[in-house]
Amino acid sequence: MSTSEIKCPHCGQWTMWQGDVDDRCINCGEFLDSRRFSREVEKKINKQLKTEDDYFAIKPTDGELTRMFKGFFNFFRWSAYYVQLVIFVFVTILMAIISLLAA
Ligand SMILES: [Zn+2]
Repeated sequence: MSTSEIKCPHCGQWTMWQGDVDDRCINCGEFLDSRRFSREVEKKINKQLKTEDDYFAIKPTDGELTRMFKGFFNFFRWSAYYVQLVIFVFVTILMAIISLLAA
């Protein structure tokens, strides 16, 4: 592993990078490997979704009212999920554009 000087994709300042995914910018403290950041967010959303799936899963024993209630919440949950996904995609694209401009 060798230390190299790279431009931070977050603040555009020069910083040291050792090729490690855990390396952070010395200026703004953000992770230099933006792909790691993307993976972390993706993992977090997936984990959150799985947990909530268990909680709001409609069981055969549920009554009419419970089904409606759970269906209603599931709708909001999916909306929130897609909003998060759109923001995630937007931030990823934005970071790619910024790193292209900074290069
Ligand atoms: Zn920085």
